[in-house]
Amino acid sequence: MSDAKIIDGKVIAADLRAETAVKVEDFKNKFNKTPTLAVVLVGEDPASQVYVNTKSKMAKEIGMDVGDHFLDATVSEEKLLELIDKLNNDQKVNGILVQLPLPSHIDSRAIIDAIDPVKDADGFHAINVGRNSIGGDLLSKTFTPCTPLGCYLMLKKSIPDLKGMHAVIIGRSNIVGKPMAQLLLEESCTVTIVHSKTRNIEEITKQADIVVAAVGRPLMVKKDWIKEGAVVIDVGINRVDHPDKPGKTKLVGDVDYDDVFSVVSAITPVPGGVGPMTIACLLKNTVDAAIRQQVEITT
Ligand code: NDP
Repeated sequence: MSDAKIIDGKVIAADLRAETAVKVEDFKNKFNKTPTLAVVLVGEDPASQVYVNTKSKMAKEIGMDVGDHFLDATVSEEKLLELIDKLNNDQKVNGILVQLPLPSHIDSRAIIDAIDPVKDADGFHAINVGRNSIGGDLLSKTFTPCTPLGCYLMLKKSIPDLKGMHAVIIGRSNIVGKPMAQLLLEESCTVTIVHSKTRNIEEITKQADIVVAAVGRPLMVKKDWIKEGAVVIDVGINRVDHPDKPGKTKLVGDVDYDDVFSVVSAITPVPGGVGPMTIACLLKNTVDAAIRQQVEITT
């Protein structure tokens, strides 16, 4: 397999973290404060625990402070709202991340919309969603959700000018599919979103210059779905039984990487593609939040 085709998320994420570390250092020197991320985790879902621990570790590695708030799965919505209010009012906290999914007795939308939009490091607050949707000048006042932002930054490495490209996004979630579509529209792509009710998906993906798969179905996208020379971004993270090691599991994407490899011009691997970029973008958003809050205080 030719390495030139592989969009290496680990390398691009390391570069972004290094850029963000410089911003953190500048911020500390200028304002004598440390950009700080509050991480809220409810319950003990093992995958969520791994995600938040990795986010905390990487934030610390680039010089940020992190406050972990780990709550029992039975915590009430009211108590969680109280914590968000406390973090909103804590001058030291610049970014707030509430790890999703939340337990079913909690209204996730109510929690996300309780976060102060200027501390919304994940970019999920309705105000930030609206600003991303309107685009233009408002993009400098919003936070773009981390996973689509990571996909976008990786795409730009392969295709610096996205104008006029036909991008097909598989999946219409609020955290990936929809914000991805907005980012690509802003770049003047022609954007199609397909989802579980779309008919003849492969006929649509086959027309795409760019395919972004954010579905949660292991290895769904096959070679005959992809146009020769297309760029493929695989957001999916699916744990499946290991084909060669009984009793073991492995991570695969939504795209059948080995199958499509011969037709794509570039592709992100799983693992080592979108995952590391998502975390790097969270750190970027947090330090950007710190800078914006400081500008608000001083102007
Ligand atoms: P959701 O479950 O919220 O959304 C999945 C989307 O896929 C829905 O829009 C759904 O359609 C669509 N879909 C489901 N089945 C099909 C099908 N057979 N054909 C076409 N479309 C289908 O998932 P997320 O967006 O949260 O995540 C998607 C994947 O990305 C998951 O594997 C997740 O683990 C991964 N992920 C990875 C991240 C990373 O950092 N790398 C971060 C976030 C997610 P409908 O709306 O009609 O139900």
